[in-house]
Amino acid sequence: MTTTDSTPLPNFIRNIIAEDLKANKNDGRVHTRFPPEPNGYLHIGHAKSVCLNFGLAAENGGLCNLRFDDTNPSKEDIEYVESIKSDVRWLGFDWGDRLFYASDYFEQLYQYAVQLIKLGKAYVCDLSAEEIREYRGTLTEPGKDSPYRTRSVEENLDLFERMRAGEFEDGSRVLRAKIDMASGNLNMRDPVIYRILRATHHRTGDKWCIYPMYDFAHGLSDSIEGITHSICTLEFEDHRPLYDWFLDELKVYHPQQIEFARLNLSYTVLSKRKLIELVEGGYVTGWDDPRMPTISGLRRRGFTPESIRNFCERIGVAKRDSIVDMALLEHCIREDLNERAPRVMGVLRPLRVVIDNYPEDQVEELDAPYHPENPGMGSRKVPFSRVLYIEREDFCEDPPKKFFRLAPGREVRLRYAYYITCVRVVKDEQTGEVLELHCTYDPETRGGWSSDGRKVKGTLHWVSAAHSLEAEVRLYDRLFVKANPSGEKDGPDFKTYLNPKSLETLTSCRVEPSLAGAAPGSRYQFERLGYFCVDSVDSSDSKLVFNRTVSLRDSWAKIAKKEKK
Ligand code: ATP
Ligand code: MG
Repeated sequence: MTTTDSTPLPNFIRNIIAEDLKANKNDGRVHTRFPPEPNGYLHIGHAKSVCLNFGLAAENGGLCNLRFDDTNPSKEDIEYVESIKSDVRWLGFDWGDRLFYASDYFEQLYQYAVQLIKLGKAYVCDLSAEEIREYRGTLTEPGKDSPYRTRSVEENLDLFERMRAGEFEDGSRVLRAKIDMASGNLNMRDPVIYRILRATHHRTGDKWCIYPMYDFAHGLSDSIEGITHSICTLEFEDHRPLYDWFLDELKVYHPQQIEFARLNLSYTVLSKRKLIELVEGGYVTGWDDPRMPTISGLRRRGFTPESIRNFCERIGVAKRDSIVDMALLEHCIREDLNERAPRVMGVLRPLRVVIDNYPEDQVEELDAPYHPENPGMGSRKVPFSRVLYIEREDFCEDPPKKFFRLAPGREVRLRYAYYITCVRVVKDEQTGEVLELHCTYDPETRGGWSSDGRKVKGTLHWVSAAHSLEAEVRLYDRLFVKANPSGEKDGPDFKTYLNPKSLETLTSCRVEPSLAGAAPGSRYQFERLGYFCVDSVDSSDSKLVFNRTVSLRDSWAKIAKKEKK
């Protein structure tokens, strides 16, 4: 299966929009929004929502807003706002001049609340948070009316105004919608719509000491912006009657809410609360740690925006929750980098090889194409000399049956170079560790091909010792050892399942000299080893640092093949 950005697959949301367009609903307008709360960095789950909202708008000649749902000043921060904007842009989407904040609507939302009071549909309640909880009842028992429910409109207007003016303590009073304390839907049991909170807001400063609750602000912000299709995750299905109630009571423009299943991904967690815990507890180096499922982490790891968009298209949208296999995400980046990443050679765990019959002072510049199937990518010169490094694990003194790499007396090909034969092994007398190999080369095999048709089974990557550059390479494994680390109800804390081996740092790797000055963020295939990206934070001209994005082994392709059978 190959899906590209240009071939959208049908899904139930696309179908709804197509029907709406056919019926000329909203005068044929399609207007969506991506509404993050700036209380953390975006993760791959958010990418699903970004792709969906911006994608649906683009497909239908519509518009998509970026709106920050910034109604909770105690958890929000400008750092998050900036990171979210840059992540959405990096993913390839553009909100044009439609960058909005729920906080832009605070005055309007306040007026809506006043209007509800005037309609007799909202009241100021003096119960404590705990009492409100007690009065709410349970799924099986109806709630109890608050003793303040019958306050007059005048008294409510007066108290609400004074709440705004800062006359009351934090938490001493709230404004509640007057709906139905016996409703089967707990969200409808007179939900709180305003609270008193003295917290400096990252945009409105200390102008407000009352803040609207998310449920009140969200649907009305959609209405204010003229959103046609308000797409959100399934947990909000039970909130829809409440959003509808606000819109209907206030008689304002009514967007259509559509719920879809959020993305869950195996071997990681997709909840900002949990990700914050990992960052603040020092379990990772930051939001952009390459092991994190955040957009900034994936970017630093070497993922491309195309691979993430492609992943989001492939997983589709559904009405039922499921867990997507991490192997699919890895498959998507592998597929993309397979096409675009130049091939180079790097040795992660170097073993010294001396070519005994190669002249001491000779250096040959061998031609090596950057991509086997794409000559358009050009080639570079790779220096060959008497002393080389190969991968330690490409040599075995006593090789098992299927080991086709280098062994005593055996001949192998050095990629783009020559056939070499191992003639002697130098070992540490004490430990038995292999220190260096002595080999001979066949000058008739230049380029890696023998003119007499003689075949070798193994082809190894290598670098010239004197010409290669030192590099640090970071190998990543999954962040958790368990597919669903927070899946057990009442189970141990999700951090119990952190993978202690999720990062392996190799500090004395050697890479070919063409990588001198490689740009931060640039991506390569190290032949036989995987795809690597120059670390955008720690790499410099004096110290090359690479992150392994993925290995070459595609477990998804295997899974897919098995399923087909
Ligand atoms: P989290 O659960 O990580 O805290 P959130 O829903 O609180 O996420 P928001 O900032 O409110 O985070 O999310 C912005 C948008 O992204 C919302 O429309 C939300 O539905 C969507 N979204 C969040 N997580 C996912 C996910 N895992 N899959 C798909 N969409 C998601
Ligand atoms: Mg949310």
